[in-house]
Amino acid sequence: MQRHLITSAIPYINGIKHLGNLVGSQLPADLYARYQRARGNEVLFLCATDEHGTPAELAAANAGKPVAEYCAEMHKIQAEIAKGFRLSFDHFGRSSSPQNHALTQHFAGRLADADLIREVTEKQVYSNADGRFLPDRYIEGTCPNCGYDKARGDQCENCTKQLDPTDLIEPRSAVSGSTDLEVRETKHLYLRQSALKDDLNAWIDSKTDWPLLTTSIAKKWLHDGDGLQDRGITRDLDWGIPVRRGDADWPGMEGKVFYVWFDAPIEYIACAGEWSDAHGGADWERWWRTDKGADDVRYTQFMGKDNVPFHTLSFPATILGSGEPWKMVDHLKSFNYLNYDGGQFSTSQGRGVFMDQALEILPADYWRWWLLSNCPETSDSEFTWELFQQGVNKDLADVLGNFVSRVTKFCRSKFGEIVPKGGVYGDREETLIAELDARLTRYAQMMDAMEVRKSAQELRAIWVAGNEYLQAAAPWATIKEDPETAAMQIRLGLNLISFYATLSAPFIPDAAQKMNTALQIEKAQWPSNASDALDSLPAGQSFAVPENLFAKISDEDRKDWQDRFAGGRA
Ligand SMILES: [Zn+2]
Repeated sequence: MQRHLITSAIPYINGIKHLGNLVGSQLPADLYARYQRARGNEVLFLCATDEHGTPAELAAANAGKPVAEYCAEMHKIQAEIAKGFRLSFDHFGRSSSPQNHALTQHFAGRLADADLIREVTEKQVYSNADGRFLPDRYIEGTCPNCGYDKARGDQCENCTKQLDPTDLIEPRSAVSGSTDLEVRETKHLYLRQSALKDDLNAWIDSKTDWPLLTTSIAKKWLHDGDGLQDRGITRDLDWGIPVRRGDADWPGMEGKVFYVWFDAPIEYIACAGEWSDAHGGADWERWWRTDKGADDVRYTQFMGKDNVPFHTLSFPATILGSGEPWKMVDHLKSFNYLNYDGGQFSTSQGRGVFMDQALEILPADYWRWWLLSNCPETSDSEFTWELFQQGVNKDLADVLGNFVSRVTKFCRSKFGEIVPKGGVYGDREETLIAELDARLTRYAQMMDAMEVRKSAQELRAIWVAGNEYLQAAAPWATIKEDPETAAMQIRLGLNLISFYATLSAPFIPDAAQKMNTALQIEKAQWPSNASDALDSLPAGQSFAVPENLFAKISDEDRKDWQDRFAGGRA
């Protein structure tokens, strides 16, 4: 039995994510986790919300709520939606958890002990009225370039010019509107990533099985220009993990918190601690410490391509710098972007379909299948309502759903709701089994390799093979001349449904569950070969005709949704 630690990039807390976010990390990670569990392997699948930083504070202020309360509510909402999509996290944690506080402070202490942290004095805008330093986007004023009067300290939204807060004309606090601002000196901690450059380089060179895209992004950041830069790990904010050196105070750092980029990936580890505490103290270190049993763990991370530098450099710098035997990532699966109807999905502009809206109009399996079978793997991909309608209607309704319906209903009308006995395989059945064996092997190879689209293609081909067999065997004609052979054909068809349920479950878990329930299968076993799998339902076993697995999307619905989602989300 293999052991798989699987993490999905952790979604930011400030709102509900769109389908592009979903297919860029959480959904393919769930596919892989479900597949590995189905193969009998031990899996720990973790995800969490990323809760610190300025955007969380701003979103809470917009919602008129204290930031801790806002984050707690949004976490609950994101967790519910994840359940709705059947994302099978073993734990969905929070980067604001006490476990992450302690672990982040621990890492900072270890890095300081290793002389990998230096103090830097910087100048930053301080608001006397608010009694706090203001991050760039907390400062508003008039743009020196275009005269827009609500330009932010980091950028003018009107003319898109990048700004420094000191560029703004008549700067004011976005918190209180006060113009009583001054530039003060403040001290921050920097992680000496530059000192870890050789270690990181050697580690990346050891990853000979990584995709070229991943290693080239990492190498670019490592070597281009002046090379990997030291990076600030603290901020002058209230909301975040207080700066401490392990268990001890950090003189001069009172009132400061760690920068969100530093604590967010540490939550991958802390989340295992949260999982343990939620499950009666399960041993989490055997997943994360190579000196405590994690040596045989294979660790896979899923993320969008924009997250690759953090996962290949920044987080590994934290781990390597600690000098402790933490498990490091073995394989990193990154994705391109899913576009929406000729443009981009956009959270800030409310453009596209958001996860809660998607579940309001259709069950999770429809989305899971379409998104995974069209996932932006080797290049960006495009969501349009036409493509979505075509994919769902053709693959799910016409091929899989139709097969299940025809076989079970025909059996009920001719043999009753019982697996019929009699008859022997002929050439047609042997040919089908040979094809399914070859496809089963290839499907497993593609799933092992996390080739999501190729896996979906293979699964679809497995469904199609059954449909074509049924069409050619035509038990509705056979039964008039040769009821025994018709019984064999239908028994094979019922076994195929069971075969499909097992293989399809990682993609469409609800439909798979319905198929298994109809066939009274409690615990599905991953098939070792098609021949045995298609002989697993004993003649005489009863079953129940399931309800239609998938409804077709009508042109009317499609147009309706197209209109409804044409404007931005309110
Ligand atoms: Zn401007």
